[in-house]
This record gives sequence, C-alpha cells and structure tokens, in this order.
Amino acid sequence: MAHMITSQCVNCGACEMECPVRAISAAANQYVIDPRVCVDCEGYFDIARCKWACPVEACVPERAAYIEHSASLQNRGTRPVVFRADGNPAGTPLAG
Ligand code: SF4
Ligand code: SF4
Repeated sequence: MAHMITSQCVNCGACEMECPVRAISAAANQYVIDPRVCVDCEGYFDIARCKWACPVEACVPERAAYIEHSASLQNRGTRPVVFRADGNPAGTPLAG
C-alpha cells in the first residue's frame, strides 16, 4: 500500500527529488504521491525516503488506514468518498 502526502505539505519539493521511483509530483496545491507507482521504498531504503526528507512530516504510510477509515464512516452513514482512477479521493489536487 502506497504512502500519501497530507495537507501539511508546504511545497518545498524535497520529497520529489528523493523518491527512487519518481512517484511524487507537484499538483495544484501541494505535492502528491501516485499510489500506482509508489513501492513504499521496499528494496531501496529502510525508511521511506519521502518521509525521511519531509520537514513537516507530511509524507505518511497511512493511505490504507485512511481508506479503511473512509469506509467505516460510510458504514455509519456519511456521504461516500469517491476515489479517482489515480487512487486519490475526489476533491484532492490532481497530479501533474
Ligand atoms: S514511500 Fe518511497 S517510493 Fe513511495 S513515494 Fe515515498 S519515496 Fe517514493
Ligand atoms: S517534502 Fe513534505 S513539504 Fe516538501 S513537498 Fe514533499 S510533502 Fe510537501
């Protein structure tokens, strides 16, 4: 399961340069991780390079937990979270 970038991102660009598989790119309001490309740095680094590089701890390995939390909220009657083809929730910035 891929890492994700939270809205804490301050657009410094440090993570983009560190990612070994070029999964990170600048989007409209912040940097984003393409979950189809991110490999969680397995086979490259012991600590995810984006998490290591980020000065504000915006790169987190919690995409799975976020999706599970969204599903739980929906089960309790909230509006459904719609995910785009790139794996990010609708309403978050588009990559590229
Ligand atoms: S966890 Fe590793 S592969 Fe995934 S986005 Fe971060 S630096 Fe790139
Ligand atoms: S290193 Fe952190 S603050 Fe800088 S662009 Fe990446 S996610 Fe945003």
